[in-house]
Amino acid sequence: MIPPGSAIGVLGSGQLGRMFAIAARQMGYRVHTYSPDSDTPTGQVADVEIQAPYEDLDAIRAFASNVAAVTFEFENVPAATAAAAEAMAPVRPSGQILHTTQHRLREKTFLQHQGFPVTPFQAIRSASEIRSTGILKTAGFGYDGKGQFRITSLDQAQTAWDAIHTSEAVLEQLVDFECEFSIVAARSEDGNFVHYAPSRNDHVNGILDVSVAPFEAPAEAIEITRAVLESLNVVGVLCVEFFLTRSGKILINELAPRPHNSGHLTIDACRTSQFEQQLRAVCGLPLGSTDMFRPAAMANLLGDIWHKGEPNWAAALAHPGVKLHLYGKLEPRSGRKMGHLTATSNNAEQLVRQARAGL
Ligand code: AMP
Repeated sequence: MIPPGSAIGVLGSGQLGRMFAIAARQMGYRVHTYSPDSDTPTGQVADVEIQAPYEDLDAIRAFASNVAAVTFEFENVPAATAAAAEAMAPVRPSGQILHTTQHRLREKTFLQHQGFPVTPFQAIRSASEIRSTGILKTAGFGYDGKGQFRITSLDQAQTAWDAIHTSEAVLEQLVDFECEFSIVAARSEDGNFVHYAPSRNDHVNGILDVSVAPFEAPAEAIEITRAVLESLNVVGVLCVEFFLTRSGKILINELAPRPHNSGHLTIDACRTSQFEQQLRAVCGLPLGSTDMFRPAAMANLLGDIWHKGEPNWAAALAHPGVKLHLYGKLEPRSGRKMGHLTATSNNAEQLVRQARAGL
């Protein structure tokens, strides 16, 4: 067990690290963050902010030797970086899990071999291998719908291949889904498993827009989530994103081996937030209750909201039951996640949408 007062290292410095750091500091831990940037969302609330490239393995080793355990909020760190950290401190979840989940082809192949339901896919290594329509996605380093191209007719094959700038991709069948949902879960070193209520997720332009929980997902989704965490031997938090098809089937879209945007509402709606849960799992503490006090909904705030100047925060906060979370990002770029609103009530979705519209 890693006791309060110890330092926890976070690779990455975005909003996930920030909310983790806030949870960790609340429980008396110190937080060190590492990324190529400075004055970052995580760095602003951490005890120590290290600015260095992920490829600087000496700096990574020095960073890891100063903390009791390392976790990450940015899963696209190179395998050599995770290995260098692992030589100095426990890394949770392990570098092996990062390696599998940071690459769509490896992740999908792993899931398929384990017998999990995944969206039908095909590996693509050149334009000439594109022989059907669907969504072409880069195999590595894609997020929030980036590095994707929707192929609706085969004469777009070359354009699609050129657009995604990569040597390895997956072509997925376009799923005609009823909705998307996700389950955030955690697993401890001794194999205990807990999960949050599933949330229904609406995306706009490939970016999560609104999450609503609890969502009544098919019961098998929980068992699939448990089996995924077990088969990867996860120690930490992992989110499984699903499609629910119009015929009632569920398919795994992707895995995120960390707290997830759809789980941000756990901060305001649950006894233990997904970030405190990550801390507990990483430190070998008992996992916390995932009980939800009230139905909840979360709406992301993208940089676009700033295009007319400073948003009208007072208007959003005038709704009782609406909470504001901002990540301390200095530049509100279009499509950039700057913060979110959470509403907790029986009509949480309507409330959070209304509050955001008033910004
Ligand atoms: P991803 O980054 O792969 O999660 O994709 C971002 C979003 O694009 C998803 O949340 C879906 O809304 C949509 N999407 C991705 N893959 C597919 C698919 N195979 N069929 C239908 N929609 C998809």
